[in-house]
Parts: sequence; structure tokens; C-alpha cells
Amino acid sequence: MNKPCIICVAITGSLPTKANNPAVPITVTEQVESTQAAFEAGAVICHAHVRNDDQTPTSDPEKFSALKEELKKHCPGMIIQFSTGGRSGAGKERGGMLPLKPDMASLTVGSNNFPTRIYENSPQLVDWLAEEMHVNDVLPEIEAFDLSHIFKAAAMHKDGRLPKKPYVQFVMGVKNAMPVDKDVFDFYIKTTKRLLPNADWCAAGIGAGQYVVNEWCVSAGGHARTGLEDNVRLDKKTLAPSNAALVQRVTELCDKYERPVADFVQARNMLGLPNAV
Ligand SMILES: [Zn+2]
Repeated sequence: MNKPCIICVAITGSLPTKANNPAVPITVTEQVESTQAAFEAGAVICHAHVRNDDQTPTSDPEKFSALKEELKKHCPGMIIQFSTGGRSGAGKERGGMLPLKPDMASLTVGSNNFPTRIYENSPQLVDWLAEEMHVNDVLPEIEAFDLSHIFKAAAMHKDGRLPKKPYVQFVMGVKNAMPVDKDVFDFYIKTTKRLLPNADWCAAGIGAGQYVVNEWCVSAGGHARTGLEDNVRLDKKTLAPSNAALVQRVTELCDKYERPVADFVQARNMLGLPNAV
């Protein structure tokens, strides 16, 4: 159990605002400050969305470009992952930042329900996003909101649409999608190992499920995702003071289960990313 644990910090997301937690970073400057503290606390992947000044989500490539430049300056070596999620745009707009060539981008390979709407990922859009990632040499993080998404990713890996070493993230705890459920979590791991034996995996728990899922991941040898995108609280009564505070509690779990926290060189090696920064 001494495999280093890669910690991803999802700094902003599309939903939480300053009204939910004043520590949610909105402007690029705030995002960079928050990420730098999280990086110092042990996170080596920054999963990022960008926002307009009024806090609404956007897919504006110029914002993504500014964020990438600043992160490279202030967090050298950190793995930059952009979201192509569906709350900040529609259709191909969601992949408009991929020519910026971030290290990674999220890729949801199928549709499911969200709390108040459908999270629509048509086969055609999934293929287009995967191809854009391929031509721009971007490593996809495959988001599995459902068991069928693991099968879909395996089919795409097999036929060459996802040629890189797969990195799969199970997302649990979104209302109307897959709940935080240990039996399902265990079956996701088993299925990923069976269909994608060379994959690394991690999981994100949303809301109160975040810490539970963090512990399941660390104890089962996977990687972990935390951050204010998924959860703005330390517990029912306490807001998380920062992204770094959420990262800190994952590093404590790593200590508990005797997992070293991966530095960016180890993380890049495990994910098959170049070390040049
Ligand atoms: Zn996200």
C-alpha cells in the first residue's frame, strides 16, 4: 500500500458561489492564489472551471488561457486539468479551450441526470471531444457518473479513440445520478480493473460524501479528488476555510493509510504525462 496518492483539487466548479462559501475562488487572481496554497498543501492536479466576474460559469478560452499562464508561473510542475463539463456551455463550445493544450481535460463519456436537468453527452459530442483532446495531446480524465460510462471508456480505449493510458474518475453523490455507495464503489474498481487493466483511477464525492469517498480511495489504493467545487464544508456546521484545508485532510488520510502523497514528478510519471514544464 505504498503507492503514492495523487491528490486533485477541484478549485471552483460551475456552481458554488461566494454566497455558499466566501473562499470559493472566482477571478483568475483568486484561483491562482487558492491553487498555490493547495499545491503547497499537497495537491498536484488542479481541476479548473472559469467564471465571469458575476460568478456565472463560462467556457471562454481567454479566461482559461489567462489561468493557465498564471498557474504555470505560480505552480510550476502542477498538472493543469480543464473542465469540459456541461454547465458552462453547450456542444462544441465545451471544448473550445482544448487547443490551449492543458495537460489534462475532463471527459464525460455518456449522459445522466443532474439535480435539475439532463447532463447531455451525446455519442457524437463525446467522440468530438475525445478527438480534440487527441489532436491537442491532452490526457482525458474519464468521468464515470454511471457504470455504463466505464464500459464506454473501455470500448473507446480498445478501438483507439482514447489511445492514452486511461485515467478514470468515478463521480458519486450528484443528486439523481449515482449516490455515494460503497458496494457500487467496489464494483466500479473491479470493473475498471477488468476492462481497463492499465488504468489508474480516482473518485470524487459530492457534498457531504466528499470525505467518505476520499477515505475509500486512499484506503483502496486509488487517487483522490477534493476541493470547493464538490463540497464547501468541513462538516455540517463548518465551512471549509480554503481549498488547501480540504487538501490537508486528504494528506492526513494518506498518513493514516501509509500512502505517500505523490509529488508532481511521480504523478506525471504515473499518468504518462511529460515532465517538461
Ligand atoms: Zn468540474
